Amino acid sequence: PAKPMYAGQLPAGLQTISNIIAVSSCKGGVGKSTVAVNLAYTLADMGARVGIFDADVYGPSLPTMVSPENRILEMNAEKRTIIPTEYMGVKLVSFGFAGQGRAIMRGPMVSGVINQLLTTTEWGELDYLVIDMPPGTGDIQLTLCQVVPLTAAVIVTTPQKLAFIDVAKGVRMFSKLKVPCVAVVENMCHFDADGKRYYPFGRGSGSQVVQQFGIPHLFDLPIQPTLSASGDSGMPEVVADPQGEVSRTFQELGVCV
Ligand code: ADP
Repeated sequence: PAKPMYAGQLPAGLQTISNIIAVSSCKGGVGKSTVAVNLAYTLADMGARVGIFDADVYGPSLPTMVSPENRILEMNAEKRTIIPTEYMGVKLVSFGFAGQGRAIMRGPMVSGVINQLLTTTEWGELDYLVIDMPPGTGDIQLTLCQVVPLTAAVIVTTPQKLAFIDVAKGVRMFSKLKVPCVAVVENMCHFDADGKRYYPFGRGSGSQVVQQFGIPHLFDLPIQPTLSASGDSGMPEVVADPQGEVSRTFQELGVCV
């Protein structure tokens, strides 16, 4: 793929990372964090060195989804850097691990804080950094994409008709930045009950997206109680049930990024 475009110099803290993957959605609550975390643990399971950056300042979910022993980020006072915490070999940074004192911030301040946390972290050598983007495609997201050289983007959406417009927004933002969208994950698209498969939000908008925007891969994730239970339990689904349907889907997604 063509080299992505980003403003300025590559920050020193990111020079030891081979691939930076953005997991993005237009709205909150569609499963973006669930996808980011399970993708990261799948890549780690495939043997990669992986980190997760939870860029959501207002509603960080990483501290709920994974439970590292050390729940506060440490500082290297001399180098003025941040040391990630770790769970099952994956490095983790989230505002939820930054201690107390989350304040009310306006957009430009939020951007500054996100970029600082991302670029002053001592990530070390990583094959993949997965960024759980803040929901939306506004200035905060755009600035973040300009600070880091993204390798690829994964867009998460739900199957409703309206979500099509959301995906279009996401694709437009990344294409402006010359970042390839490698996959769309259509989350909560079906559930199985009484031996039948149900599609509560309808079908077909995913394939429309793929055709219209030329995104090479589309993945379906079912509504699955274990996915939400594992999200709350601190152990990602792909770790808890490595042979399950969800894990197989993430293995396919892992190969695409
Ligand atoms: P976002 O990051 O987009 O705000 P989350 O990943 O935090 O969304 O998901 C929102 C909630 O929905 C969480 O409680 C999560 O566990 C649950 N959830 C997400 N995807 C699924 C799914 N496919 N099946 C069941 N629950 C899900």
